[in-house]
Amino acid sequence: MDKKIQMSVPLVEMDGDEMTRVLWGWIKDILIAPYVDLKTEYYDLGLEKRDETDDQITVDAAKATQKYGVAVKCATITPNAQRVDEYKLKHMWKSPNGTIRAILDGTVFRAPITVSSIKPFVRTWEKPITIARHAYGDIYKNVEHIAEMPGKAELLFTDELGRETRQTIHEFDGPGVLMGMHNTNKSIRSFARACFEYALDVKEDLWFATKDTISKQYDHTFKDIFEEIFEADYKERFDEAGIEYFYTLIDDAVARVMRSAGGMIWACKNYDGDVMSDMIATAFGSLAMMTSVLVSPDGLYEYEAAHGTVTRHYYRYKDGEETSTNPIATIFAWSGAFKKRGELDGNQDLIAYGEALEKASLDTIEAGYMTKDLAALSTHENIQVLNSKQFLEEIAKRINL
Ligand code: NAP
Ligand code: MG
Repeated sequence: MDKKIQMSVPLVEMDGDEMTRVLWGWIKDILIAPYVDLKTEYYDLGLEKRDETDDQITVDAAKATQKYGVAVKCATITPNAQRVDEYKLKHMWKSPNGTIRAILDGTVFRAPITVSSIKPFVRTWEKPITIARHAYGDIYKNVEHIAEMPGKAELLFTDELGRETRQTIHEFDGPGVLMGMHNTNKSIRSFARACFEYALDVKEDLWFATKDTISKQYDHTFKDIFEEIFEADYKERFDEAGIEYFYTLIDDAVARVMRSAGGMIWACKNYDGDVMSDMIATAFGSLAMMTSVLVSPDGLYEYEAAHGTVTRHYYRYKDGEETSTNPIATIFAWSGAFKKRGELDGNQDLIAYGEALEKASLDTIEAGYMTKDLAALSTHENIQVLNSKQFLEEIAKRINL
């Protein structure tokens, strides 16, 4: 290439931890720097920096995303007690993803990256299935109680005028358990809008399912809000784009997804999305081949890999060993961000680069060059297992602009 691609607006770059932080640097050196005059606003979300800034750096990174619109994030450690010891932390900082999600009010879309030599476990699936997971409320913000002895459980709501409604949940004649949970119309609306916007963005059908036949008020509210927003703001745009919005009962959705050819977005309530995204990732092959994008209802995008910091590989790397850690999902976080930045700025070269980077990555695997995790899944006849750096160099050879 004679001249590097220029960027007019920076990407918000959120660096991270452990093995993915190592890959992050290599991806920039080997796959990006030779082609793009990279412009980023850099935020170091590595655990040391989060501790040093009392996690202000995470908040700043989220705010920068509100300013610029597109971010790319490396996997980060969510500290637990063991990490507090290991890194001598001042505090057990919250998950950066949770903090960013709360500020951007987003919905997480997870989609598998597919290659021909890795067959999904479900024979009919020809195209990727994207899970859109509502990231607020339900059992993730619940209140639970253990009834030690017989007694009466009631649901009491006091409105702001002081009026009470009281319903009996159950009259216990022996020990038992109970739970209270909630969601808000505001959050459900944001979820619905993010799903409709994303479906238009990628031009795929949107499916949504709940258990509204059993939960005639709670789940039914989700169904009604989706329907109302679709009719008011999206029906025409979906028609123009040639895509469909489809609501069904969750049991029916599961059966249909299994028999489908894929290629749709499946919107799930929080718990359903948690469980179903693990099922979809496993059925398509591997978490290392899963991208994740957080989309806010006002159209902000944050791209990342679905997997974590691959700690076990990092400890081996620190001992001087070569590791064969799969960088594909992290590469696709970058390519997704470049394509979106290019689209927003009318920068065709940047879009073309993002596409070329994805094609080169997939072509490399199709040619039989891959990391160890993929070798275990691939049906390719002539597999060459490479370490991470060799794999990135094979991809670089295939970037065609
Ligand atoms: P993980 O980093 O996803 O790794 C779990 C295992 O999956 C690895 O040990 C490895 O198996 C395999 N694996 C995952 N990604 C791979 C890749 N790119 N290439 C090859 N193998 C891969 O999950 P974890 O061990 O549960 O979590 C580690 C840290 O990541 C934790 O501190 C957690 O808080 C953080 N985390 C961050 C995010 C995020 O930032 N979005 C998400 C999840 C977890 P083998 O060791 O068998 O090869
Ligand atoms: Mg899960």
